[in-house]
Amino acid sequence: MTRDISPIDTLAALFEGEGSAEYFGEAVTQAQHMLQATALAEAAGAPAHLVAASLLHDIGHFHGAVTGRDLMEDGLDNRHSHTGADWLARWFGPEVTEPVRLHVAAKRYLCTAEPGYFDLLSEAFVHTLRVQGGPMTEAQARAFEALPGAADAVAVRRWDEQAKDPEAAIPDFEYFRPLLERLLVRA
Ligand code: FE
Repeated sequence: MTRDISPIDTLAALFEGEGSAEYFGEAVTQAQHMLQATALAEAAGAPAHLVAASLLHDIGHFHGAVTGRDLMEDGLDNRHSHTGADWLARWFGPEVTEPVRLHVAAKRYLCTAEPGYFDLLSEAFVHTLRVQGGPMTEAQARAFEALPGAADAVAVRRWDEQAKDPEAAIPDFEYFRPLLERLLVRA
């Protein structure tokens, strides 16, 4: 009889494997990027569900295991936020999955809602912004604000943006295992 691998072991294996890939033109790997965003969330005193969302926000980029395809390289939006959130919903509740789902929209939102925000984006992020639909219209921004998890997604977005420093000291995935285990709603 085979034994099922636990959700957290599955996630740990992704960080080890696909997570070691380059993060679209940045000086850190995808796993380093996600762990650094999480360290920033924790340092800011974020609640557990938001620390977890920061850790898992780009899980949809792990296309082999999660989305099964890789569209970003063709210049198309791979909808990594939605595929990641849908995939995570097998184990986590909406307080974790919805900020993941909306973290790309949050970038498009901030470009509209916050003067000067666009200038802070790196070149790689400007490229993906274009692919993802560009800044929101005012009406889209108001609709975004009304979505559950929108404010949390904006918080994740800000840590996401800052998490590209190759010199930053970051905890490893195992450090966050107990926090993730407490948030599991299905195993
Ligand atoms: Fe990210």
